[in-house]
Amino acid sequence: RRWGFSLSGELRQAAARDPDRIAVIDEQRGALTFRTLLGNAERLARALRGTAGVGAGDRIGLLCRNHAGMVEAMIAGNLLGTDTVLVNTGLSPAQLEAVAEEQQLRVLIHDTEFAEKVVAVPATVERIDETRLLALAAGAPPGHLRPPERDGRTIVLTSGTTGTPKGARRRTPSGFGPLVSIIHRIPLHARDRIMIAAPLFHTWGYAALQVAFALRATVVLQRRFEPAGCADLVAQHRVRALFAVPVMLQRLLEAPPPDPNPLRIVAVSGSALPGGLATKFMDAYGEVLYNLYGSTEVSWASIATPANLRKAPQTAGHPPHGTHLAILDPDGQPVPRGQVGRIFVGNEMLFEGYTSGATKESHDGLIATGDLGHVNADALLFVVGREDDMIISGGENVFPSEVENLLAELPQVREVAVIGVPDPEYGQRLAAYLALHPGETLDADAVREYVRRYRARYSVPRDVVFLPYLPRNATGKIVTRNLPR
Ligand code: ATP
Repeated sequence: RRWGFSLSGELRQAAARDPDRIAVIDEQRGALTFRTLLGNAERLARALRGTAGVGAGDRIGLLCRNHAGMVEAMIAGNLLGTDTVLVNTGLSPAQLEAVAEEQQLRVLIHDTEFAEKVVAVPATVERIDETRLLALAAGAPPGHLRPPERDGRTIVLTSGTTGTPKGARRRTPSGFGPLVSIIHRIPLHARDRIMIAAPLFHTWGYAALQVAFALRATVVLQRRFEPAGCADLVAQHRVRALFAVPVMLQRLLEAPPPDPNPLRIVAVSGSALPGGLATKFMDAYGEVLYNLYGSTEVSWASIATPANLRKAPQTAGHPPHGTHLAILDPDGQPVPRGQVGRIFVGNEMLFEGYTSGATKESHDGLIATGDLGHVNADALLFVVGREDDMIISGGENVFPSEVENLLAELPQVREVAVIGVPDPEYGQRLAAYLALHPGETLDADAVREYVRRYRARYSVPRDVVFLPYLPRNATGKIVTRNLPR
């Protein structure tokens, strides 16, 4: 048995030493102390064991937005030694059914708002909604639980950007190494007030929760992100650090900022942070922005500080302590500095494998991220995008991000995506999808003319489509397969 870091272990210690400190501030349920949070999780664990017969080794799924109940359920799973599958709230009923089957869920705990969607899961899966969950917990006797005979694990699903989400088994960090690597770059303090706006079911929100628990921070949760309410919670609870996904920054800029504004840290991850947005955000909020590059499989692999982002707004920064990064060519050889290659990562946080048994390509203990990138003379990493998204038009390689970044500089443009579409003559041609700021206009010829001025002919999008907004998944990523063709 390995005694590693776990949410329940941290909570037990916090509840013993600091029982009356606030652990979670929930939009609806208000402030919960460490003692209350642990008590609730313990009762919930007893209830799950008593009524549903859930025990060590079983898998429970959580289909929840960001609220205290989700945290209690995660800890209850830890206490019981179950494997807890964090399910993406944006899944379609069919995807949910596939995930429930593949993960062999015993129980699915879900928010009431997903009642219709969960009808799709097989009848063998016991479904427990919020109301029943609270009633079960209220009816269960209090008291400590004996540690389970096996440690539970957390299974995080990938975003499903490239297909059906894959279940990735998280490793239990053996100690505080990964945490130290983060606070070495991001000035988080013990007992900070941290708002987690990124979804808790996603690898980034879950990582943020682990960091918050390790710091004994107070976690502020908004059930569903909405910029004005988020700014209010930040101001009201004097939140010092906000963990978000990049698209939330754009939305925060469109709403009134927190007043007063106590934010010293705004850390984003999960998808590319457009350079123009980074600069705009820092102009409005100050030198508070941190960009973390990572994935479900490698956790965080590099961190850009506000100083890095001022110097190179597009950068993903440097790998933190304990992380090794390599940019390799297709033969597994390091590429010369400045040249684009495949990004490989090694660190203590690498996942333990997919639940399906599938593996990820590896090289000398480093695993392939599936992304392409390069490192500049200052050793800063730039992620140019996914290998699979590279467009080959008339034999020339074009990275969508190159053209996206250029188009994002147009003041009229709010959101942009560039993809390759089949072309009888060139193999692939570029299609640009643009959503403009309210009241702005732009025409396709002007877009093409603009790109032509700065880029080679083969980088000019032949198709230019204007949409009111671009389709995104629950983690804020643009889902290119849902763009109209
Ligand atoms: P699936 O594997 O199911 O297709 P996914 O890869 O989108 O889903 P995640 O693990 O959530 O699932 O996403 C990780 C990917 O997101 C990275 O490999 C990278 O392409 C992108 N990404 C994350 N953070 C950043 C960042 N800061 N800058 C650039 N790209 C990022």
